[in-house]
Amino acid sequence: KDVLSEGAVDARPAVAPAPDRPARFDGEDLSLALRRGEFVVHYQPKIACRTGELRGFEALVRWQHPHFGLIPPSAFISLAEECGQIGGITDFVFEQSVAWLSNAFPGKNHHIAVNLSPVLLGDVSLADHFQKIARRYGISNDRVMLEITETSAMKDPTATLGAATRMRLKGFRLSIDDFGVGYSSLVQLIRIPFSEMKIDISFVRDVNKSEEARKVVIAIAGLAKSLGMEVTAEGVEDSGVLDFIRGIGCEMAQGYRIGRPMPGEAAALWSGLSS
Ligand code: C2E
Ligand code: CA
Ligand code: CA
Ligand code: CA
Repeated sequence: KDVLSEGAVDARPAVAPAPDRPARFDGEDLSLALRRGEFVVHYQPKIACRTGELRGFEALVRWQHPHFGLIPPSAFISLAEECGQIGGITDFVFEQSVAWLSNAFPGKNHHIAVNLSPVLLGDVSLADHFQKIARRYGISNDRVMLEITETSAMKDPTATLGAATRMRLKGFRLSIDDFGVGYSSLVQLIRIPFSEMKIDISFVRDVNKSEEARKVVIAIAGLAKSLGMEVTAEGVEDSGVLDFIRGIGCEMAQGYRIGRPMPGEAAALWSGLSS
């Protein structure tokens, strides 16, 4: 399966090597890239811990730059947020993802998770807009999971609650991402109707070697359950971690141990090989 994945790419430094790296990208570069179709979406599988069954994929954007190669989202998402390009990029990721899901998995009910930037939470027409796109590809809204990081959710709990409510009213599912690093106010957290909590990689990765990490993961999983959310552990890199999170009743796992983010065709192939 490794030959199909971007494993080799992910192992490279976060930004292309120095010699021909530009000083910096700007908003105009992103806008051009969007128009030229240089963004691509890779898909990382999420499985049920207990059965190993495929549950869905997370859509992760990359920039296939004509000179600098495959650029990771860490190199351009915050720029995109600052210069007003994140809406266009998210639209692209959303449409690609539902189109791919509809093409590659007819008759299945895997979900697709799309990351939502905090900048977009104030857009009152977004839920309606997403619904129209999903309908166009025959994907029901409950197969779409929108991921909002804990940190961005708590930066503006009121805006998040508003956006979350609009999304839930349309039947989209919501996930609180990178949980455990944002010091949520629990009073605010429980008001927001999340269906899933993703435990941050920084805890998950260390459960083999750290008693503290194990305690944190157990506590977060307990909190999520008592709030009625499904729990996903992200950053599962080896079978020891997978055994641990399965043992504490975590529902889903995502990470290199299960599958790397892959281009659409490879991800569809992966799902065939893994089942
Ligand atoms: P994230 O949402 O927390 O996504 C998970 C990141 O962890 C991905 O990095 C994924 O490749 C990586 N990962 C998955 N499994 C493992 C593992 O086992 N070990 C390790 N070390 N890493 C693992 P990626 O694709 O580079 O994305 C980084 C971040 O960029 C994402 O973090 C997300 O916050 C953001 N991002 C990606 N696509 C989008 C997008 O379409 N919109 C927005 N707003 N943000 C995006
Ligand atoms: Ca995410
Ligand atoms: Ca995450
Ligand atoms: Ca993260």
